[in-house]
Amino acid sequence: MKPESEIVKQIRNYEEIFWINKNVNLEKNLNDSVLKNCVDAAEKRLERFSPLIAKLFPETKISNGIIESPLVCISKMKNKIENIFENCLNGNLYLKCDSNLPISGSVKARGGIHEVLEHTEKLALENGILKNIQDDYLKLASQEASKFFSKYKIQVGSTGNLGLSIGIMSASLGFNAIVHMSSDAKQWKKDLLRQKGATVIEYDGDYGEAVKNGRTESDRDPFSYFVDDEKSKSLFSGYAVASLRLKKQLAENKIIVDEEHPLFVYIPCGVGGAPGGIIYGLKLLFGNNVHCFIVEPTHAPCMVLGLETGLLNEICVQDIGLDGKTKADGLAVGRCSSFIGKIFENILDGAITISDDKISAYQKMLWESENIYIEPSSCAGFYGLKFVEKYMQKKNLTNKIKETTHIIWATGGSMVPQEIRKSELEFR
Ligand SMILES: *Cc1c(COP(=O)(O)O)cnc(C)c1O
Repeated sequence: MKPESEIVKQIRNYEEIFWINKNVNLEKNLNDSVLKNCVDAAEKRLERFSPLIAKLFPETKISNGIIESPLVCISKMKNKIENIFENCLNGNLYLKCDSNLPISGSVKARGGIHEVLEHTEKLALENGILKNIQDDYLKLASQEASKFFSKYKIQVGSTGNLGLSIGIMSASLGFNAIVHMSSDAKQWKKDLLRQKGATVIEYDGDYGEAVKNGRTESDRDPFSYFVDDEKSKSLFSGYAVASLRLKKQLAENKIIVDEEHPLFVYIPCGVGGAPGGIIYGLKLLFGNNVHCFIVEPTHAPCMVLGLETGLLNEICVQDIGLDGKTKADGLAVGRCSSFIGKIFENILDGAITISDDKISAYQKMLWESENIYIEPSSCAGFYGLKFVEKYMQKKNLTNKIKETTHIIWATGGSMVPQEIRKSELEFR
């Protein structure tokens, strides 16, 4: 056993850390053509399904059935942040509002929905519901198709948002959706899923247990498909499509990304799938000109623990005495994905941990300054801005500080009921 590093000692004490990856090497990890092709295929698949999505979810009609969120400049929030961190960000601050993604109101609407669609497409092609991928996908909304899909189950283990995205999409196509929910999952998420026609099974244990049970249940049944948050390439590629969409939005906003104009992106991290896919996609497009950071709660920093120790999913936060409990329910994950961990080893630029009290403070600050509500998990990204100066100094980037664009990736929020928003924002 290696002696415990300084960083691990801090993590063990619930201290906040700023970790810079010393092993960044894009060549090593971006040349996997299988993964690259998956991302292209996911983008095309989402396009094929767009008429169907527009039909099933009328709120996506304005975007022609493409599930996308706005990129918003948040200059008032920027002023507030500069005051509390006592540093000047110089460049522009944007919020990528995946909190407002249609259908399920979180970043999971990218990966989760893509995976359900991929499975749907496969079943439909194998069973003659679709003749080929040029066929009319609106057929999938027919009674006949729905009756066919009702013979099949789609199952998933979730802290909440993945369940919402898989459950809502599968149920709307006629599948038997079963969501295995961890004890952290919010009641309203369970209620909403049941209302949409999904079956919710609750566990006393954490996310890991919900996943384990879900997988066992599903493996027993040949008509059941399990969405595996820890290993799924389909989820990953759905998340990665975000980068292609963001590239267009940056161009529309006349934001340049090149060596003289670096882009900084901060994403909250649970098991790693969402930030993994997004960051992989961004690195494919922008290489070393994009600097990507994950932010995790001090009570559940599974990814940085896995990366720092090199043990990835062979260590969990409970192994070093942490309780894994945080009000950022979407980030309450004790063990990271090894699939993503291996990718992050060479492409992630840094990681930050944040204490729960700050999460609430950012939530309130964003609401008061910009009138934007996002859920607690979603707020973690802001804390990354505190370490920009330090990072830029280390990487000799300070001369570009004025030309830098920062994007905080908001990961969830629009489905949160009013009374819960109120109680969160009235804390203290
Ligand atoms: C799932 C989720 C994340 C993190 O995604 P992972 O794939 O678990 O790393 C962040 N924020 C919210 C709101 C989420 O639901």
